[in-house]
Amino acid sequence: MPPPRTRGTALRHRLAELRGPDVPAKALDARALAALAANPGCARRAILDGAGVNKAALASALGSPSTFGQSQFALTRGNAFEAKVKADGGAELLRLVHEKLDRSAEPPADARVPDLTATGPQGRTARTALELREAAAHPGAWTLLDHPMLALDVAGSPAFLEPDAVVVHPDGSWTVVEIKSFPLLDGSADPAKVGAAARQAAVYVLALEEVAARLGAEPEGRGAQDRVAAPRVRHRILLVCPRDFSNQPAASAVDIRKQRAVTARQLARLTRIEDIADALPEGTCFSPELPAEELTAAVESVPATYAPECLSACELAFHCRTRSRETGAVTSLGRPVRAELGGLTTVEDVLAAARGEAGDPDDPAVAALRRAAALRAEALEAACR
Ligand code: SF4
Repeated sequence: MPPPRTRGTALRHRLAELRGPDVPAKALDARALAALAANPGCARRAILDGAGVNKAALASALGSPSTFGQSQFALTRGNAFEAKVKADGGAELLRLVHEKLDRSAEPPADARVPDLTATGPQGRTARTALELREAAAHPGAWTLLDHPMLALDVAGSPAFLEPDAVVVHPDGSWTVVEIKSFPLLDGSADPAKVGAAARQAAVYVLALEEVAARLGAEPEGRGAQDRVAAPRVRHRILLVCPRDFSNQPAASAVDIRKQRAVTARQLARLTRIEDIADALPEGTCFSPELPAEELTAAVESVPATYAPECLSACELAFHCRTRSRETGAVTSLGRPVRAELGGLTTVEDVLAAARGEAGDPDDPAVAALRRAAALRAEALEAACR
C-alpha cells in the first residue's frame, strides 16, 4: 500500500482529471455540505462535490440548467446587511450574542477582533485555529472571529468552510453566528429558512468541534502551563436577520442539537470519494466543455439516488429527475413511497405486481398492491353500474 501522502496526492490528481483540464475546483461550502448530508446515498453528488465540479455549469452543459441557488440580488443584499451587523468592530453583533446567549457574562467591551488574513484556505484555517487557541489560553474576554475558516473531512476529502462569525465567550466557549437576509417578523422567521440555516450552522459546529478536540488533545512539545482544555462548542447558535422589513438587526438563539446529530450521522455514511473514483471508467471527465453526449455518459456512469427533495438541494435535479422518470425508478415518487415498495424498484415492476403478473404474493408490498388494485377495480365497477 502506498504511503498516505502519495495516496492523497494521487487522489487529488484523479479528482483534477475528473474536473477536466484547467477547470478550477469549486469549494464545498456548508450549504452544499448540509444538502450533501441530506442525500448521503447519492454517489453522483458525492463525487461531483468531492472533485469540486461546478454542478450548475455541468447542469447547463447537460441541457438541464438548474434554477437552484441564490440570486445575485439576494447575495448583494445579504452582504450589505452583514456589513452593517459587523460594523464598529462587531459591537452590535456581540451585544446580540450577550443578550440572547450569555446574559450572565460581562457585557462585551473592547472585544478582540483578530486579523485572520492568510494565504489560501489551508493558511486561513491554520490562522483561525491559532486565534481560537489564543482565545482559549486567555479566557475572560470576548473575541470575535470575522469569517474564520474551518476544515472538515468529508468522505476522505477536506472541505473548507467559512461561517459568518464565531464568537468566543469570556468562559472560553464558542458560538457560531449565522447572518441571513430573510426577515424576522414579530420575532419569528420562515421555518424552512430557519431550518436550512440551522443545518448549515450544524456543519460549522461539527468543524469547530474538531478544532476544539485537537486543542484538548494538545500538545506534545509544549509546556504543561501552555495546555488548554478543549473549549465547549455551544449547540445554540445565533441567527441574525433584519427585523421586520427594516435593515435593523434582530437575533434569535437557535438550538441545533438535532441538526448536528443528523448531519454528523449522514456525513459519516457518505461513501468515500476515493472508492467512487476507483469504480469509474478510465478517462471519465465532467468538464462542461465536453459535448453533451459524452458528458451525459460520464454523469450516468455514477449511480444516483434521485428523490423529489433534490429539487431544492442540488443543481443536477432536473437532469436526474428526467433520467429517473425515463427508467421508471420509483425513487422519483419520493422516499416514503420508495420505502413502502420494498424490493420493487421500477413503476413497471409495481404495476406488474399489482396486476398479479409478477412478484411474490407473500411479499407484504406485493400483497398490499394486489389488495389496492382489487379495491380500485371494485370501486370502478360500482361507479359504472
Ligand atoms: S439531483 Fe442527482 S446528483 Fe443531485 S443529489 Fe439528487 S440524485 Fe444526486
